[in-house]
Amino acid sequence: LSERLSGVFDRLTKQGALSEEDVKTALREVRVALLEADVSLPVARDFVNAVQEKATGQAVTKSITPGQQVVKIVHDALIDVLKGEGEPGALKIDSPPAPILMVGLQGGGKTTTTAKLAKRLKEKDGKRVLMASLDVNRPAAMEQLAILGTQIGVDTLPIVKGEDPVAIAKRTKTQASLGGYDVYMLDTAGRLSIDDELMAQVEAVRDVVTPRETLLVVDGLTGQDAVQTAENFNERIGISGVVLTRMDGDGRGGAALSMRAVTGRPIKYVGLGEKMDALETFEPERIAGRILGMGDIVALVEKAQETIEAEQAEKMMKRMAKGQFNMNDLKMQLEQMLKMGGMQGMMGMMPGMGKMAKQVEEAGFDDRILKQQIALINSMTKKERVNPALLQASRKKRIAKGAGMEVSDLNKLMKMQRQMSDMMKKMGKGKGGMMKAAMKQ
Ligand code: GDP
Ligand code: MG
Repeated sequence: LSERLSGVFDRLTKQGALSEEDVKTALREVRVALLEADVSLPVARDFVNAVQEKATGQAVTKSITPGQQVVKIVHDALIDVLKGEGEPGALKIDSPPAPILMVGLQGGGKTTTTAKLAKRLKEKDGKRVLMASLDVNRPAAMEQLAILGTQIGVDTLPIVKGEDPVAIAKRTKTQASLGGYDVYMLDTAGRLSIDDELMAQVEAVRDVVTPRETLLVVDGLTGQDAVQTAENFNERIGISGVVLTRMDGDGRGGAALSMRAVTGRPIKYVGLGEKMDALETFEPERIAGRILGMGDIVALVEKAQETIEAEQAEKMMKRMAKGQFNMNDLKMQLEQMLKMGGMQGMMGMMPGMGKMAKQVEEAGFDDRILKQQIALINSMTKKERVNPALLQASRKKRIAKGAGMEVSDLNKLMKMQRQMSDMMKKMGKGKGGMMKAAMKQ
């Protein structure tokens, strides 16, 4: 695929910003990549359309092609969609005993995942777990869970012949309370395809225990079919998260994107084999790379962007080393901070500025203030930016008004620039120049 893409890239012209045509051409290939990775068709289409809007008009980083840039944008958007809110892999299992309901089609990996997760909760979180199989149709299924339980040292509910799933669920709940368990896990029966009886059964169980988590276990290799399964379970039962199994196979894992799009629920874990410890927290970055299959391109673009940022930072450091720090420098630094989401990053790198970074942080330097400060600088003329001493009363009024701010805000900004400038001068002159020393490191 990468080859086919580079063919497309070569044909694209190099420009300052992504044209609609550039984006369309590159996205056509991205769409194919998504479908090859088994992302469901409507999901792939919606995703590509959303990216199309986002990408058009974006600046192209020097030394990479527009097509490569689009792939990077797609990659980032993919991670965004895959992420979902909350801590990855976190489960709501406070207030013991917390019920976890495992649902999905037969053969998806429910029983295996139930045991894997029980083991993880026991070993990583120190929880006491009780497991029970509700799969009354297949006696072997109940045995399977019991055997796994013995293997991993987790208790299973004793099997009583002839009991129905709801009765087993009730017994598990009681046993979990009496036995002082933190969590109890219910491994439900699955069918080869969705049917009403299965759904009604799972609903009845759900109503008996009111699960804290209802996890849909889906075979990550099933692709298109998985979407229908997820839709049905989410509508009838209501799921709180997804576990994708068989991600150790050579599938590209497009089901992950489909699951997110269709259910809106987080993917919590991925199954990476048949062994009991082959369960990992879902990592959007890893899956995004795998779905696109264009990791080399993404890495290339990241490198190019880093290089340019480094060049800019170095230029500014050089000026600062000479004790120069005007409004242009301040603007650049504010923009940098906005990007890094905090002041410490930049200042923390400079000797002697840690304390100031802290003060600024405490003064409540959030994004909104940074943007206001940048707006103030934007409404200054070129001359004023280079030589802030020009800023007297009437000019101040004009600038503040232009940015929709008060003169007092501008005064604060100017004070900040003066302090920085003074500091730069001191550092520049210091023993051999602290800044110069810092730069040599
Ligand atoms: P259930 O019918 O949903 O309970 O499915 P099972 O838990 O019985 O799993 C069906 C088969 O898939 C078993 O042979 C499992 O060992 C296998 N399996 C489950 N999860 C994974 C996984 O993450 N990777 C691989 N390679 N096999 C898995
Ligand atoms: Mg099973």
